[in-house]
Amino acid sequence: MDNQSFRSQFPILNQMVHNKPLVYLDNGATTQKPQCVIDAITNYYTTINSNVHRGVHHLSQLSTDAFESARKTVKEFLGATHSCEIILTKGTTESINLLAYSFGEAFIGEGDEIITTEMEHHANIVPWQLLCERKKAILKVIEVDAKGNLDWTSFEKLLTSKTKLVSVAHISNTLGTINPIERIIESAHKAGAKVHVDGAQSVAHMPINVANSDVDFFSFSAHKMYGPMGIGVLYGKESLLNQMPPYQSGGEMIDQVSFEKTTFNTLPFKFEAGTPDVPGLLGLEAAIKFLQNLGMENIKDAEEDLFNYAVEKLSKIDGLEIFGEADNKASVISFLLQGIHPFDAGTILDQLGVAVRTGNHCAQPIMAKFGITGTIRASMAIYNTKADIDRLAEAIIKTQTMLL
Ligand code: PMP
Repeated sequence: MDNQSFRSQFPILNQMVHNKPLVYLDNGATTQKPQCVIDAITNYYTTINSNVHRGVHHLSQLSTDAFESARKTVKEFLGATHSCEIILTKGTTESINLLAYSFGEAFIGEGDEIITTEMEHHANIVPWQLLCERKKAILKVIEVDAKGNLDWTSFEKLLTSKTKLVSVAHISNTLGTINPIERIIESAHKAGAKVHVDGAQSVAHMPINVANSDVDFFSFSAHKMYGPMGIGVLYGKESLLNQMPPYQSGGEMIDQVSFEKTTFNTLPFKFEAGTPDVPGLLGLEAAIKFLQNLGMENIKDAEEDLFNYAVEKLSKIDGLEIFGEADNKASVISFLLQGIHPFDAGTILDQLGVAVRTGNHCAQPIMAKFGITGTIRASMAIYNTKADIDRLAEAIIKTQTMLL
């Protein structure tokens, strides 16, 4: 993947920023889109745009077929058992809000417990806090050790017969820690709890199989896996989704409506009120096919190689401190430069053509745990090369020379 013709499939990468060739290392926030994804969206509007599920006319049928066939592609990509287990949302945030509301209505009562971790994105904290307030339930938090690993003893202490749900990031967007979700699922299930995995940072970087891992719920956003913004997925086991009430209401999600009584549609439509993002799903399908063509194992290996190169290179820079050195890590490096505010570093790096993210990465609790307010984060994707990492390292050294 480390070659020019591969990169040329991503038109946006071929540009100058402040008169320097762009090095894009903000993939944890969002990834760039290959031409096939852009084409899938354009082709939809150019050829078959029409509302789905409602029309008998030609275009509506083509649009509905393309939409439902794309849902099947998502199902196969995730290793789900049924297409009806793939609920389309706006993204990870909406998936978790849907789950917190609907699972909460069906399964959470006063005194019940929900477990999350210290390393979560706010999207996997706040919906649970609000649910706990509504239901007088209790939110408990697994601790993270100094290296960024989940503290297993802390988890075992929290897990009781009152635990109804464990909601954990597959990969931390801040520390890059890959959490041992299989082990978590096994322990939670033994205690009678369900598990939700926030896959926002994992789905583009490693193979996922929801059936094999036996996870109950899994959420992700298309835009972090080379697909479009504004669409994502909540996977849920059919038996659980069937017991959960609708989240939003309106067209599409109903069966019969009268002023006396409304009955609801079957899965997945029960959770998909209103006109869905059809071109978005076709863009996501194109992104999935693009990833499948490369092979998820190949992607994982290539990114691991690049990550090791980056750690070696950045570790040699004086005054650079890396946050998050978990035993199992993805291609995310959070760091600070001694004596330099992350915002200033990010601004100079940008002037040198290198796009990184600075700040708290929507994960204030883990920042507080490490006693900092933010970091500089370089997060890699399949189009990044060792030359990009060299440019990052040179730019960091230049930043230090300019600011210290
Ligand atoms: N969870 C994690 C781990 C994330 O990294 C993000 C995005 N930074 C989200 C949830 C929220 O994703 P989105 O903004 O696409 O809904």
